[in-house]
This record gives sequence, structure tokens and C-alpha cells, in this order.
Amino acid sequence: MRDWPPKPNIRYKQAVFLDRDGTINVDTHFPHRLELLKFIPKAIHGMRILATLPLQIISVSNQSGIALGIFTLEQMSRFNAEIRSRVECTGGRIDAFYFCPHLETKYLSPGDSLCECSKPSPGMLLEAAREFELDLSKSFLIGDKTSDIAAGESVGCVTILVKTGKGGREEGALPVQPKYSANNLFEAALIVRSCLENESYT
Ligand SMILES: [Mg+2]
Ligand SMILES: [Zn+2]
Repeated sequence: MRDWPPKPNIRYKQAVFLDRDGTINVDTHFPHRLELLKFIPKAIHGMRILATLPLQIISVSNQSGIALGIFTLEQMSRFNAEIRSRVECTGGRIDAFYFCPHLETKYLSPGDSLCECSKPSPGMLLEAAREFELDLSKSFLIGDKTSDIAAGESVGCVTILVKTGKGGREEGALPVQPKYSANNLFEAALIVRSCLENESYT
């Protein structure tokens, strides 16, 4: 589901998909309170670099806290808007926020069925690709969990695992092979930039 913007503004055929918690901002266990919003060191620098590239910048985030009743959709929206405004203040940009408000596998009770948008499923990437008319095979995905990487892999994105947040070591980690690894979002952004310069990513 798209939280923002109300209507997609299509500019580029390629995207960089960004996980949110643990990749852009510190994952303070279901972060949703504005006063606790904290950016990961260097993440802002990474956002500034990404904003110079011919890519849509799209956040894709599992937000199970909504289904769990920890916070509301409105609280998530406000948190996203705050991230966006702080990123913009420092020369960056986020073109869209997609989210999954449903339960992730680990929270499901027997008999519950899993939605199609919770990463590692690629539902959010497919929805964004449809709405922004993206070429997923020429797009990038940056995230801190193996479930992020798995979602990107399954639709042919170039995947970059960052060592911030869970750093690929979450509970129930999946056997994935990210195309690249980076210490943080800044390094990941440099990798994306050099891939685009060399056209060496497809
Ligand atoms: Mg994350
Ligand atoms: Zn979902």
C-alpha cells in the first residue's frame, strides 16, 4: 500500500528501493514516535547522493506494528512525513512510501494466512513498479535484513545489504546472496552511483 504521495509522480524508469527501519532510521523496535526518530550515521549523506541520480527513491517497509495495535496508520504517516521532511532539509528526497500493515510470518497464529506485501514477498515492489512504471531488473534494493534482499532478488533487483540495523542477522534469516554489501546507506549509495556510471549492474 502507498502511504504517500497521493498520486505517483513518474520521473524515471529505474528506482532505488529503500528499507526504512535499520537502513535509514534507527530501528528502535516499532519506531513511530517522532521524538524518537533518529537517523543512522551517514544515512543522510547517502540520501543526498541518491537524490543526484536518475532514480525514483522509494521506501518499502513492513509495518506490522499497525496490525499488532502498537501504532496507528496515522502515526506511521506522520513518522514517514517527518523522515521525508528531514531528508529534504538536507538535500535528499524520498518519492514514495509503501508499507505493509499486516502481520509478518513470525507474528502469525496457526491458520492465519500471510499477505502478499510483507517482505520477503515482493508485493510492495510490484505495486510500486506498476504505479511508477518501473523496470525492476534495472532497479536497486537496499536493506538491512535478508527479507529485504529476498524481496529484491525475487523480482530481479540489484540488491545491497547494509550492515546497519540487523545487518542480515535477523531471527530466521534467509539464505540470500546480496549482490553487494555495504557498511551503511552512504556506502550503498556510492555503489548504486558507480553501477549506474559503469552500467555494470544488469
Ligand atoms: Mg529494516
Ligand atoms: Zn502485507
